[in-house]
Amino acid sequence: MMIAFDNSYSKLPDGFYSRQNPTPVAAPALVRFNNTLAAEIGVNAEALDLAVLAGNRIPSGADPIAQAYAGHQFGNFVAQLGDGRAILLGEVVGPDGIRRDLQLKGCGPTLYSRDGDGRAAIGPVIREFVVSEAMATLGIPPPRALAAVTTGENIIREQVLPGAILARVASSHIRVGTFQYFAARRDTEALALLADHVIQRHYPDLTSVDEPYLALLGAVIERQAALVAQWQLIGFIHGVMNTDNMSIAGETIDYGPCAFMDTYHPETVYSSIDHMGRYAYQNQPPIAHWNLAGLAQALLPLLSENEDEAVEKATAAIDTFSERFKASYAAGLRRKLGLPTVDAGDEALGSDLLERMARNKADFTLTFRYLSALSQTQNDADKPVRVLFEDPDGFDQWAVLWRRRLAYDGVADSERQDQMRKANPLYIPRNHLVEASIRAAEGEDDLAPFNRLVTVLASPYQQQPGADAYAEPPRPEQVVHQTFCGT
Ligand code: AMP
Ligand code: MG
Repeated sequence: MMIAFDNSYSKLPDGFYSRQNPTPVAAPALVRFNNTLAAEIGVNAEALDLAVLAGNRIPSGADPIAQAYAGHQFGNFVAQLGDGRAILLGEVVGPDGIRRDLQLKGCGPTLYSRDGDGRAAIGPVIREFVVSEAMATLGIPPPRALAAVTTGENIIREQVLPGAILARVASSHIRVGTFQYFAARRDTEALALLADHVIQRHYPDLTSVDEPYLALLGAVIERQAALVAQWQLIGFIHGVMNTDNMSIAGETIDYGPCAFMDTYHPETVYSSIDHMGRYAYQNQPPIAHWNLAGLAQALLPLLSENEDEAVEKATAAIDTFSERFKASYAAGLRRKLGLPTVDAGDEALGSDLLERMARNKADFTLTFRYLSALSQTQNDADKPVRVLFEDPDGFDQWAVLWRRRLAYDGVADSERQDQMRKANPLYIPRNHLVEASIRAAEGEDDLAPFNRLVTVLASPYQQQPGADAYAEPPRPEQVVHQTFCGT
């Protein structure tokens, strides 16, 4: 009943982290345990008992640390952030050969907590559990939620709330901000150590290339471009795309006030702290680009001893972002539209649909899902999608162009519909459902809505009997306009 920890980050020099054990809690109780994930990552589920998940017992082989990092928060550079309420227990290598961090979030203060209490409330823990598991089943790179527990202690936010801890798993928790931390201290030696660690861990193919650090920059740009394209294609809004929340492995990390769009509009913002709409849906690609420029800046000392040359190399790398994003996004949008071949007009066809959706307040997820049921010729199957548009004519006009394009590919209806259903989910973690599961858990100690939601979202592309309510957009009185990070 051991966890076979194989720690590498905690072997880096002291300046990378501070050693810190979780602070024990009064009365832990299990909210949910992800058995499938435990098996996948090769962790013995019995070894992860309540005491370990709550931070009350340190499993043998763990080397608990809080990682140091910096970050641009809403555009302002903060040289000292770090895990203020998360502690990395250690790393495990799964049967698939993949190394993963095992981290507890909400397990007490660390050297980096500043004025925070190091704790998390049940609401944000449930939100992160639901959304990170949904992202995984939607096919978007993890972190995953391994377990959630309540602490038996109350925490104070705007109101008194039950405390909770999330055990999560990620390829690593190294951020753009981790590089910025050492760059800000002009510690080039640490920067190189960090870059070598990241290359070995996340980009092993680059170990033997000519300019590994420049190649690393290019590889992170590629993964982030692909990741943000996936967010856009699924209607996901991260909400706090600060550089300290941007993973160097190209994963979605630090779920705060994140949300999935219901009605499509490019300017959609849910986060209560994003007053200027900096991290609105349509800004996610340019913000990722901006954040990566921050990474490039931090890497400059490693790119060349000559500063001009370093800047030139970094700029050339950063300039590839838009093309990479566009290519990823365009390929994904073609899949959503059922177009296996590439045509010069595809991009315009896609944007035309999105503009019509915005004008007509159409539901993002259902428009694409219901579109997946249409035939080459117009018939009754058009009805569910056209009625999502305030003015259904707007859809009909577009459908004429789309069908003309389909005819060019000549794929049989059933085959295209099948492919489209695999690109267009029916179930997403709708905000009103997430909120309802949070309310039930925090107010009534009722975990049934949360558990049911996680179960439905485990198969987002598969229509499930009795789950119609999970596919439906919110009724007007159910619409969630704002989400909170709850820190
Ligand atoms: P976030 O926006 O959640 O990514 O957090 C930004 C920073 O604030 C990170 O350094 C967190 O560790 C820290 N932080 C957030 N909430 C708390 C808390 N309750 N206690 C201590 N630190 C926190
Ligand atoms: Mg964060």
